[in-house]
Amino acid sequence: MSWSWKIGRLAGIPIYVHWTFVILIAWLVAAGASAGGDLGAGLAQGAFALALFGCVVLHELGHALTARRFGVPTSDITLLPIGGVARLQRIPEKPVQELLVALAGPAVNVAIVAVLWLVGVRFPEAADDSNRILHSGFWPKILLVNVFLAGFNLLPAFPMDGGRVLRALLAMKLPYAKATRAAASVGQLMAIAFGLFGLSNGAPMLLFIALFVWIGAEAEAVQVAERAALKGVPVRDAMLTDFRSLRADDTLGHAAGLLLAGAQQDFPVEDHDDEPRVLTRASLMAGLAARGADAPVAEFAAASAPAVDADAPLVAAVTALRERGAPCAPVVRDGRVVGLLTLENVAELLMVREALGKTGDGSVSPAGGETVY
Ligand SMILES: [Zn+2]
Repeated sequence: MSWSWKIGRLAGIPIYVHWTFVILIAWLVAAGASAGGDLGAGLAQGAFALALFGCVVLHELGHALTARRFGVPTSDITLLPIGGVARLQRIPEKPVQELLVALAGPAVNVAIVAVLWLVGVRFPEAADDSNRILHSGFWPKILLVNVFLAGFNLLPAFPMDGGRVLRALLAMKLPYAKATRAAASVGQLMAIAFGLFGLSNGAPMLLFIALFVWIGAEAEAVQVAERAALKGVPVRDAMLTDFRSLRADDTLGHAAGLLLAGAQQDFPVEDHDDEPRVLTRASLMAGLAARGADAPVAEFAAASAPAVDADAPLVAAVTALRERGAPCAPVVRDGRVVGLLTLENVAELLMVREALGKTGDGSVSPAGGETVY
């Protein structure tokens, strides 16, 4: 995830911190300092922030280690204010496995609450004090935070764990893509309810959460629908075949001529020994500004996206392209560039398949792509 800093590794999984999590902790420290007014209060807030951080890590490790039991590795864990994100390399194969993986995170928070409760930690009941979280002690605050982490994450809406629990339950009866669409719709209804409640009560935080839930639900449904529609489709079916390519010793001026002459923005550069690379419009402009029209394209062509085989599965190629933020990837067969894979072309293929009624059976291959918890 971008805008994140790596802080270490636990159980072999790299842990990152997102800048918004850092802001949350800064807010807690600032609020503690202004409420307490002395160094002791500031340090107490600092300790609380670290404990909060620990609870979120444990929540994510709950997901990651349960997934590992089902043979699904986790690429990394990123900490966000809303509970963190564990990037699993794929969706667990069976709905019951996804159910257990989704429940494992909130279960960790419930376990922490149970342990604190058993050792006698209680939250003071002072309903009229809106800042009571700042005025109560360390352990009651940890208790409350874990109640919040478990409760918020169990809301039945993507991208929260509860959305995945609901999807897994539905997927036991329905095709995966249908189950996802239904779970996403429940999430979006909840988002509307949150939004209306936030508007009528002047609570901007709820509006923010509503927006976050809405976008998350839609993204999940679209992504799964796409994976279902593209299941079994090879790269060659979606690649652009009517395109111009460049040789390594062509000049940037020649490339600029091709850019102006047609609609193509990115050009594969073929080099007999090396992997084919891509000269993007942005790198062409950078090259023209730095070296002028006579410089060879080879100097500015980047290996931003590795070449994909024409017979490789399209879903994996599209996922790789998105992850790298690359505009296109050269498609090769027997070492020769035979096409260009662009996201626009994939979108067009989806439109054509939908128009023809070829949307698949709604099932998604489990190896289809990574998922977040
Ligand atoms: Zn979770």
